[in-house]
Amino acid sequence: MEGDPPPPGEGPPLSHSIPAFMNSGDLIDQQTLLLRAAKDSEGNSVNLPNPLLLHLLLKEAIGSDPNKCIHATKEARGTQYILRTTSKRILQKLLSIKQFSNGQQVEVILHPHLNKTQGIIYDLDTINIPTEEILSAVRPQNVVEIRRITKVTKGMPINTPLLVLSFAGSHLPETIFLGLVRVRVRKYYPSPMQCFRCGRFAHGSKTCVYKEICLNCGTEHETSNENPCTKPSDCTNCNDSHSARDKSWPVYQKEYQVVKIKTDNGLSFPETRALVNQESRKQSYAATLKDRLSPGNDEKDRTIQILREEIAQLRGLTPKKTKQQLPNNTCNNKNASNTTKAYPHRPRPGKYRPSPTSPRRLSVWDHRYLSG
Ligand SMILES: [Zn+2]
Ligand SMILES: [Zn+2]
Ligand SMILES: [Zn+2]
Repeated sequence: MEGDPPPPGEGPPLSHSIPAFMNSGDLIDQQTLLLRAAKDSEGNSVNLPNPLLLHLLLKEAIGSDPNKCIHATKEARGTQYILRTTSKRILQKLLSIKQFSNGQQVEVILHPHLNKTQGIIYDLDTINIPTEEILSAVRPQNVVEIRRITKVTKGMPINTPLLVLSFAGSHLPETIFLGLVRVRVRKYYPSPMQCFRCGRFAHGSKTCVYKEICLNCGTEHETSNENPCTKPSDCTNCNDSHSARDKSWPVYQKEYQVVKIKTDNGLSFPETRALVNQESRKQSYAATLKDRLSPGNDEKDRTIQILREEIAQLRGLTPKKTKQQLPNNTCNNKNASNTTKAYPHRPRPGKYRPSPTSPRRLSVWDHRYLSG
């Protein structure tokens, strides 16, 4: 049994010969929090202190060096931070912070979206049972939310046997009991957000600032189910001859990859986009190098070779070299002899901790895709 943690908040920083966050009794499933400045008395947004001061204030508030027990990423130009921790003590300390020692009021809350994992199940027997009834039956299995996927036929929503289940935490079970029988749970990847007004991605029609167009031909005209567009398809996103709703074209596929990486690693959209952009930059840098460096120069050839291997690793392909290129902090596998062994700590859903140097960060590329 774990002892009760000390009361959070006040009091001098705790001193341990081993920091509490390294103690296995303190270890919990990764929790994701949001840190932002509290609004002022008139409801206006306030900025957080500069990053260096913020580090000191947070260190003071939790009694430990944040860099050792929290993984932080900034969002919205540093007006808010996502904090991840696997320490129960640090979690409680963080959640108790209302004000820093310099008087700045802050809000630290559990992230509203990133502390759950979604799975999808197929079950014909429960197709006509209301989701509330199913939820009350499966709630003891860590399910916190259920949504049924419906399809619209002749203007009417029709139930399908597909249910999207949200589980608390980052663990997705392989199966779940639905009544007496086990049902397989697959990871759920939502569709990329595409605006129904303008056909662009990453925003919805409620926040759209563009003109409403026909998603088939890209011009402004009225359409309906009875009166569909008959003009040639012209995609507004890439000007090719296909509908903007067509899912086979590269822009859609890229957006789908963003959703998959986000889902597989429990990241926010800004974190995922930063990761994807960084990868694109690295690849174009490597391509530039390849073009510029002349063959025959040993050192330059080696550079190209190293870059190629790094990219292969980042994509999760078979690395040619293993030991020298592994991060030296987390992996103590001394007998790495194949790809799987070289990455004993592959990120599991929600366990992903991007670090600027770790080659493991992009092994997400080879995650299994949801088929069908
Ligand atoms: Zn739009
Ligand atoms: Zn049209
Ligand atoms: Zn297109």
